[in-house]
Amino acid sequence: MSHISDGDLDAWGYYEGEANPSTLHPSLGSINYSKWVEGKILTEGNDRLVENTLGLVGEAGEVAEKIKKLIRDNSRFTPDDIAKELGDVVFYSAALGNIFGHTLESIIKLNMDKLDGREARGTLKGSGDDR
Ligand SMILES: [Mg+2]
Repeated sequence: MSHISDGDLDAWGYYEGEANPSTLHPSLGSINYSKWVEGKILTEGNDRLVENTLGLVGEAGEVAEKIKKLIRDNSRFTPDDIAKELGDVVFYSAALGNIFGHTLESIIKLNMDKLDGREARGTLKGSGDDR
């Protein structure tokens, strides 16, 4: 049974990022990261939603694993080692965002607006999504 229909994808604006060139960093030039990510995705529909969600959680786990082994085993890693794992987290964040009609850039903008708003309201600490 599929949990995602074509209607869902249409309603979510499945991958509308083509007109949004990256503004993340000047070195990225006109690279549209969300579109680039889309070119690497091998699954579709419900399989994709599950794969991308598990991918995000798995890669976040790989970041945590490096920190765990640093503390437990004094296992060292380079800044590039952790950056590669963080990049995997970013990849799956963009992949999931694409499903819901968001680009990585729009996700970053929403996050910045949310945290700036919390800072302005003095609610950076605390809990709850809408504070
Ligand atoms: Mg990884």
